[in-house]
Amino acid sequence: MSKEKIYLFDTTLRDGAQTQGVDFSIQDKIKIAKALSNLGIDYIEAGWPGANPLDTNFFKSQPETKNSTIVAFGMTKKHGRSAGNDPGLSSLLDANTKSVCVVGKTWDYHVDIALQITKDDNLINIKETAKHFLKHNKEFMFDAEHFFDGFKNNKEYALTCIKTAYDNGARWVVLCDTNGGTLPHEISEIVHEVNKIIPGNNIGIHAHNDTENAVANSLAAIIAGARQVQGTLNGLGERCGNANLVSIIPSLLFKNYFKDKFEITVDEDKVSTLTDCSRLLDEILNRKPNNRAPYVGSSAFAHKGGLHVSAVQKDPKTYEHIQPELVGNMRSIVISDQSGKSNIMARLEKLKITINSNDEKVQKILDEVKDREFAGYSYDGADASFELLTRRLLGQIPNYIKIKNYEVKVVKQDKVSNNLNSVAKATLVIDGKEYICEGEGNGPVNALDQAIRTNLVNIGKYSEYLSDLKLIDYKVRILNTGTNAVTRVSIESTDTSNESWFTIGVSPNIIEASFKALIDSIDYKLYKSKAPASSK
Ligand SMILES: [Zn+2]
Repeated sequence: MSKEKIYLFDTTLRDGAQTQGVDFSIQDKIKIAKALSNLGIDYIEAGWPGANPLDTNFFKSQPETKNSTIVAFGMTKKHGRSAGNDPGLSSLLDANTKSVCVVGKTWDYHVDIALQITKDDNLINIKETAKHFLKHNKEFMFDAEHFFDGFKNNKEYALTCIKTAYDNGARWVVLCDTNGGTLPHEISEIVHEVNKIIPGNNIGIHAHNDTENAVANSLAAIIAGARQVQGTLNGLGERCGNANLVSIIPSLLFKNYFKDKFEITVDEDKVSTLTDCSRLLDEILNRKPNNRAPYVGSSAFAHKGGLHVSAVQKDPKTYEHIQPELVGNMRSIVISDQSGKSNIMARLEKLKITINSNDEKVQKILDEVKDREFAGYSYDGADASFELLTRRLLGQIPNYIKIKNYEVKVVKQDKVSNNLNSVAKATLVIDGKEYICEGEGNGPVNALDQAIRTNLVNIGKYSEYLSDLKLIDYKVRILNTGTNAVTRVSIESTDTSNESWFTIGVSPNIIEASFKALIDSIDYKLYKSKAPASSK
């Protein structure tokens, strides 16, 4: 039996770009379009030409997208103008794409209130717009705005609107849940109804995530007959976002119900770039990736707890619904308080440390991890500190920089001004020689960090190894309340290799906790750069 094709339509660059806090440059848009094309997305809706100069310019210099059709977005012609004389439609033609997607009203309430024209005039707008683009040999898609709300309010009129678009040559009629309030069972029923008058191979679904059902609604629409699915990378979009293609694609590709009936252009080979695509968008938006994102999040295949871990090591299927590698993700083994030896062994294996599980050093590492976790350390995610702890216990980490002493002062200069000044001084010892580092900051931690970090380039033989060390993120957590509070500081660092590593420090004193995390970050950098030991 031949499989039916589901067309994938990405709207990250149009609907996603309309999100609060999102401001793509042309270069960003080109990068994303290329990644989407490599992934095998059929249609890339790239923007609204004529609406803003950036989008107009994008269409003037469209990137090569061999697997994908670039789509320009706009709206139906205005009432009182002919299609040939409508500037909006002209900008769409000028965008020079094979396909256009045009939004129009299908909810009678919007026709009355927003457009303030008669229902028949709205139908004429849809019809004339469709005919205009067909005359100019465009693949025409009709985006039926608020279709589901329109259907619930005036079924006959909503259906007449989309039938008008279809009868006048629309390749796709896209049913939009613009407000995102429709639930899967309603989507199912309504798409079934639509499918009675329009073939499934001409129906698309565009869902928003306002009830957290955008992915479920998209899959429900496909089951009910729709053959084009729209969404964005990571569900980027206004309010609660759009349907997340990063979750929809692997479900279509790997879950039996869909896999048996349908095919998509994203094949098993291309889908291995999915995690990278998801992270690329986060990188462009300068956002931390969502650890809990299905399929691609760093926790999606993370295992914690001795029993889970030993089962996963025997057969990953015991706790994983698909293999992480299929979507370009990785399994990760999380060390925790409940962890047994198998956790430690799995993590040592990842670090390529070969050791017999009966070696007493393994027990020593486990005991040390447990003691430290009891004290407030957490090695979940603090990979670099875990590696240092382990290798130190195994005698594999040389002595680098010795901290002889440090002091931090917080000074309030006078009663009038509110200026608090923090100064820090640390004495470091390398090869028996002392280096005094001083720094100032807006707080004690910042001052100490400045004292060490700004002087890294002046500390003898380690300067060259540390010159590109950078702090990306600094987080403080107070672990228990009351006078016994313990502070946990975690630091994310990076260097020119673009590798990032996480270190951790715990102490009742926030400065000491920060200091430990900072020193681990420096030691890890020296270790990975194969820096020589300090002689004293
Ligand atoms: Zn939308």
